[in-house]
Amino acid sequence: MKKIISLSVLMLFVSIITQPQTKKVKVVTTLNYLKYVTEQIGGNNVSVIALANPKQDPHYVTPTPRMNAVTTDADLFIENGMGLDQWAKNVVDASGNPKVQAGTSGHLTATLNVPVKELPTEVSRAWGDIHPQGNPHVWLDPLNIKIIAENIAGSLKTLDPANAAYYLNNLQHFKEQIDAAMFGEALLKAVGKKAGDILSRKTKTGELTAWLQTKKLNSKLGGWMKTAQSLAGKKVITYHKTYIYFAERFGIDLAGELEEKPGIPPPPQHRDAVVELVKREHITTILNDNFYSTEAAEYVSSKTGAKVAVTYIDVYATTETETYEGLISTLLQNLSGTVR
Ligand SMILES: [Zn+2]
Repeated sequence: MKKIISLSVLMLFVSIITQPQTKKVKVVTTLNYLKYVTEQIGGNNVSVIALANPKQDPHYVTPTPRMNAVTTDADLFIENGMGLDQWAKNVVDASGNPKVQAGTSGHLTATLNVPVKELPTEVSRAWGDIHPQGNPHVWLDPLNIKIIAENIAGSLKTLDPANAAYYLNNLQHFKEQIDAAMFGEALLKAVGKKAGDILSRKTKTGELTAWLQTKKLNSKLGGWMKTAQSLAGKKVITYHKTYIYFAERFGIDLAGELEEKPGIPPPPQHRDAVVELVKREHITTILNDNFYSTEAAEYVSSKTGAKVAVTYIDVYATTETETYEGLISTLLQNLSGTVR
């Protein structure tokens, strides 16, 4: 017996001294795209849990005891913010974890510094009840995901300064990956140093096409921006106002929504108004987020022949969306396959 005890004490001792010096940073995120980006930046130094199911409506997630429990000993809590995942506050409160309360270095609103669209005003507060701080679906613009990644890297650096260089290196790598998916490797090579920054800036100011022409680089454009050329100016209907950042980035025209009042199925008059709009504008595509009923979309489709594309907006929702790049590629494919 004594021998067994001393052996187990010895093994315990060995396991303590062979453990890595640094403890992983335990991160809890609300949405899955935040988990994905955190894993890209944090690599082996983080363990990340996402609270929401990627197929779930991100506006309405019911906090559970499991969510509170996993947050109890988290070092960092990351939310999308902008009023989308307000349910996160209940989880943070219920966890009783002082390290992740709002205002501490262990609490990050990932969309900090992302330019917000559709801020409710006195004149137009139609979407204010579901988007009280403007439209929060910012992550579907790949240029915004780079800002989000910078914010996440900033928090990891603060919480784990010993590995700051590692996080910054991973951030750089992630941004290069997004730039390559966005513009294509050939164009990045042709532009050379700081290509990602230059091309992102030209895209944001709407000068990309003209700039590529003057530089005679048109033929080098690849990636999502190349795919999107065939979609430019095309009109689509969406169920919810999920795609405003995505559409603006890729030059798609959002003609209208099936959802008239957030959270309420479209009334018959509104469905029929959309039918008229689809006919008048010869619209061929309706994007319907997977967590909304397709009933209204199918109705419009039956009257007009427009195709209903059921779309996913979070990473890990399907096998095609196991990465952020896969998520954006799949959305563009949904459109390429149906938009005429
Ligand atoms: Zn929304």
